[in-house]
Amino acid sequence: MPNRLLTSLAVRLNGRIYLFDAGEGTQLGWKQARLGLRGLKLLAVTHLHADHCLGIPGLMMLRAQIDDPGPLTILGPPGIELFVRQSQALLEFYTNYPVHFIEWSNDAPETAYQDDQVRIYWQTLQHTRFCLGYRFEELERPGKFNPQQAKSLGIPQGPNWGRLQRGESITLENGREISPELVMGSPRPGRRIAYVVDTRTTKNIYRLCHGVDVAFLEGMFLPEHAEQAEAKGHLTVTEAARIAARAGVGRAVLVHISPRYDAAQLDQLEAAAKSRFEHVQVGRDFDFFQIPLHP
Ligand SMILES: [Zn+2]
Ligand SMILES: [Zn+2]
Repeated sequence: MPNRLLTSLAVRLNGRIYLFDAGEGTQLGWKQARLGLRGLKLLAVTHLHADHCLGIPGLMMLRAQIDDPGPLTILGPPGIELFVRQSQALLEFYTNYPVHFIEWSNDAPETAYQDDQVRIYWQTLQHTRFCLGYRFEELERPGKFNPQQAKSLGIPQGPNWGRLQRGESITLENGREISPELVMGSPRPGRRIAYVVDTRTTKNIYRLCHGVDVAFLEGMFLPEHAEQAEAKGHLTVTEAARIAARAGVGRAVLVHISPRYDAAQLDQLEAAAKSRFEHVQVGRDFDFFQIPLHP
């Protein structure tokens, strides 16, 4: 729409950016948000509808303008590799980095991707064509170091504290071996996000959303347009809010709002959703959410 971008979610963690969906014009929003393309390492695509993937070539070309940006990983439905490779071949655009594809298949594991800081899960959804939803989990962090406990075990402040914090065992001068569990608390869970758009209600949504800090769910229609939601394979805002409440999410952000609603109607969508779940809001362009670490 003239004043609303297509749905796309950038998750930034320690300078790395994981992007979910790239419809037409995503690179414009990207530039406006001043995210910087060096950080973009991964793109997860839900499905091959234009409003979720037509922005990939533009984003890839933009990324090729920086020096040595490093590999890009693209996750997505069957056909995503063909779409990107054919676009690149036909448009003859150059990239100065390798692109790795991970396509969903019937025997694909539930974990689509893992690096040294996150794990991304995928599940199939129920739309007018094959569509995936994603769950993004930060790996759990080591427990808190307990300095009092360390001192009482006869370990003075020094390099041994660092070793224990890195998970290494140490041997004291008296020969006693100290393992990290003796001075470290239990591991702390990582932060979790779900990204679920273009679907009807299905149990897989709950697998993706269960207990996440923030669920980005589609809120395509007002409840009075439920028939269209059903016919076009989308959720209404009240369905999305009810799913969020049942899945025990911390908060829900409704995205992918139908173009039939103008900016003035967004409050109406939000009010309808709030009747089912208190911690819900309608997502707006360039909204920024900081998710605190779990204690
Ligand atoms: Zn779609
Ligand atoms: Zn869509």
